[in-house]
Amino acid sequence: MPNFCADDHWLAATDAADPLSALRQQFVFPVAQDGTEVAYFAGHSLGLQPINAKKYVMQALDDWARYAVDGHFLGRHPWLPYHELLTGSTARLVGALPSEVVVMNTLTVNLHLMMTSFYRPTPERFRIVIESGAFPSDRYAVASQASMHGFDPAIAVVELTPRPDEPHLRQDDMLRTIDQLGDSVAMVLLGNCNYLTGQAFDMPTITRAGHAKGCIVGFDLAHGAGNLDCQLHDSGADFAVWCNYKYLNAGPGGLGAVFVHEHHHHSDVPRLAGWWGHTKASRFEMGPRFESIVGAEGWQLSNPPILQLAALRAAMEPFDQAGISPLRARGDRLTAYLLWWLNQLPTTRCRLLTPRESRERGSMLTLQVYTGAEQLTESLHRQGITVDLRRPDIVRLTPAPLYSRFADVARVGKALLAELAT
Ligand SMILES: *Cc1c(COP(=O)(O)O)cnc(C)c1O
Repeated sequence: MPNFCADDHWLAATDAADPLSALRQQFVFPVAQDGTEVAYFAGHSLGLQPINAKKYVMQALDDWARYAVDGHFLGRHPWLPYHELLTGSTARLVGALPSEVVVMNTLTVNLHLMMTSFYRPTPERFRIVIESGAFPSDRYAVASQASMHGFDPAIAVVELTPRPDEPHLRQDDMLRTIDQLGDSVAMVLLGNCNYLTGQAFDMPTITRAGHAKGCIVGFDLAHGAGNLDCQLHDSGADFAVWCNYKYLNAGPGGLGAVFVHEHHHHSDVPRLAGWWGHTKASRFEMGPRFESIVGAEGWQLSNPPILQLAALRAAMEPFDQAGISPLRARGDRLTAYLLWWLNQLPTTRCRLLTPRESRERGSMLTLQVYTGAEQLTESLHRQGITVDLRRPDIVRLTPAPLYSRFADVARVGKALLAELAT
């Protein structure tokens, strides 16, 4: 356990000592009522704007004005291969081969596309295992997939549930359930991290357990991409989906991404097809027969929105500069410091729902505040501190490693103590 403290000199020295602190200058901060920069702890929900986002979006608009249809081929960044500008960064971010990832669509759409390919239930093997407290959209998506295939979601969708009075899952319990039900399970789908508790799951271990039973294993990395060092390829997961607007700062409604493991690239897994997934060499011959690109790009349907890709390009730059592994280490230090503050809060007022161990969480910590969570959030907001309230009693706080400082964590820590310890 490092020697944390609340001393201003220590905070200034700690922030100054980390070269990654400088990444903060690449972001635009909302301004609080008193004219100072907001201390922002909601990056798990919507990340801050990268300064270059406006510039890159304006470039794309300028190219449209100047070249019109020829912009597909002309300008600094022609639109036809524009999405390929994101491939390398995305692959590095999640630990995948370039051929395993593609930026396209938005998250829930991508989840459905992946399930269309990988959820192929039979009368014997039709269940979908998810974690209890999965994000509602994921829950609706899996239930509707089961229904589309003629199964009753109440039977087909199985939730992994924590033991009574425990805030999160035990891995042994998860593995036991997968083992026991495995023969009837078509797919295991976990959010990593869980969006509410911040619990991170061990992807290689869960993937091995699922595969040992013949199940497809997929992950929703909405709260993992840009937060954890995911190492998707090595995890062996069959597929993963995520959005780029939380830890990844691509802006509201920004594009999502997909990972399809290499071991599916040459299989005959069925898919929904569109022209953008067609082999590039002959895409514009506009022939009647679909020939898929080999790899994740083969799942593309439409030509992508360039303005959103432009914003995402700006968002990926700081990740490329820092590398996800050092960033995760910084995120872990900041969160450990936040934990040091939260440990001082009275247990009569609140409890932590996130596992304390670094390997079982990312940057986000979740507090259950027994009474007055809403007033607490509003009071913090008046003090220029943005946290995230899930009514009625959940407060989520994320020191995002790209732009949060130790000084910011101390600010929210002191404010929480003042609010809850009196
Ligand atoms: C944020 C989030 C979503 C949001 O879905 P969109 O399709 O991007 O609107 C879905 N699932 C999880 C787990 C999330 O965290």
